[in-house]
Amino acid sequence: MTRKLVVVGAGPVGCLAAIALAKMGWSVEIYEARPDMRLPSSREAAQQRSINLAISSRGIAAMQAIDPAAASRFLDSVIPMRGRLIHDSNGNLDSQLYDRDGQSINSIDRALLNQGLLNEVLSVDSIRVLFRHKIVSINFDGRMIRVFDVGKGEELEKSFDLCIGADGSYSVVRRQLMRVVRMDFQQVYIPHEYIELKIPAGTDNRNDPVFLLDPNHLHIWPRHSFMLIALPNKDKSFTCTLFAPTTEFEKLSHDDQILAWFKKHFSDAFEFIGTEGLLNSFHQNPRSPLVSIKAKPYHYKDRAIILGDAAHSMVPFYGQGLNCGLEDVRVLTALLHEEGVHPTAGQDPDDFDLRLARALSRYSESRHEDLIAINDLAMDNYVEMRHSVTTPAHKLRRMVDNLLFSLTCRTPVTLASLGAFAAGVTFAPGIPRGWLPLYTMVTFRPDISYSTAKRKAAKQDRVISNVGIAGSVVLGIASVGMASMALFHRTRTYYS
Ligand code: FAD
Repeated sequence: MTRKLVVVGAGPVGCLAAIALAKMGWSVEIYEARPDMRLPSSREAAQQRSINLAISSRGIAAMQAIDPAAASRFLDSVIPMRGRLIHDSNGNLDSQLYDRDGQSINSIDRALLNQGLLNEVLSVDSIRVLFRHKIVSINFDGRMIRVFDVGKGEELEKSFDLCIGADGSYSVVRRQLMRVVRMDFQQVYIPHEYIELKIPAGTDNRNDPVFLLDPNHLHIWPRHSFMLIALPNKDKSFTCTLFAPTTEFEKLSHDDQILAWFKKHFSDAFEFIGTEGLLNSFHQNPRSPLVSIKAKPYHYKDRAIILGDAAHSMVPFYGQGLNCGLEDVRVLTALLHEEGVHPTAGQDPDDFDLRLARALSRYSESRHEDLIAINDLAMDNYVEMRHSVTTPAHKLRRMVDNLLFSLTCRTPVTLASLGAFAAGVTFAPGIPRGWLPLYTMVTFRPDISYSTAKRKAAKQDRVISNVGIAGSVVLGIASVGMASMALFHRTRTYYS
């Protein structure tokens, strides 16, 4: 008997989960509240908010594990960014490469990624997607889901064997799960909001579009309590995101105030965005909040599980929200394989339910520490990106990290060399050897779990501060010694 999976939400995580489980033999229905984003009318709306995001090794490794052909198609449409380019308030630039071995993070148009994944989904026979179908409530024990069909204006009831909630930060599936599961839950809004701006493409002397900034960097204008970032797009424009506290945005109610404030803090970016572009974006684009969500557990018996932002929305300052959501799918798939959950193999129904419940429970238990770790690291990076990257202490720490990395880890680890790291693997046990910068572990080493990365980085921090303390003590003793010698010498000279 083929088992039926209902996926709520056709965002990137929902799409990848649908493909992964369809490949295992599930019959899949995806319910998506919005219209099909590939339709011309939806595309226009999406273009007005063409946010792009950075996808890195974890997201790519997850796609490679589940659908290698799709992963290589996506890699064709990305723009690699090999480092941060810091723009200081005097217009000076400082390039900080992300990785010793030249690995990059990749800018990709969010809509293109989602549309591409939807195309992959719709090419699988056992997956049906129902757009404009909004989940209203779920009876997990009765295995029934209530759906509002927006087009017809009526509610329907559908049955399921397993429900995956990939319905984003304000997840209805999570809220419904809370009625049957004793879920610990925490939601924090940070004082910052964000708004999107655009640096259009320039033109060269043949009137061809050109990038106005270096496309192979993620540009950051850190201004301590707020910051602007810019990521390149294939059409040679840049999508910028301005992060600032609500109190700062609220000071900008008139055009004159917006222009004066922006020119004062981001004068070089202003030249590229222009008066009209800036004011249009401020007036037309929404100011959106940033929320961090932690929950546990993520599942209910053998019936339901939440993945992606539904389970762990995080602030975007580590560029890991989506990467982590795609990794959720890889980890869940690996556990389903490990537990021998075969929806079509004529497995005894009780045995099937038992194995499925065990896989979901193992997911909740084993994944939680990693999700909390990356959520916390993202929050820590909130200060690093807008402030610490400009400080001498940060630059010194990066130099020390890179030096120790080069001395202790000689073999480069690239995504290609992680080829063996595929669907059957959750995470390599133990703490990796040698010195590894935290950013490298989080961004370029999907074989190291987030929590392992965080623990190893904390250990390395302790080594650095102990060396710092030992160094200060030695320096202190040396200075006292030199001062006593000088005094002794002066005293001898006096008496002799
Ligand atoms: P979503 O993309 O939110 O998709 C959820 C889907 O569920 C939507 O299509 C929605 O319509 C649907 N839905 C909701 N409710 C219902 C319902 N009741 N019934 C049916 N359907 C429903 N991550 C990175 O990895 N790198 C980055 O550089 C990065 N930059 C970011 C920058 C910003 C400013 C922000 C805010 C986030 C950023 N992220 C980044 C995070 C990333 O955007 C999210 O982690 C990712 O989009 C989550 O994907 P998802 O599929 O879980 O949820």
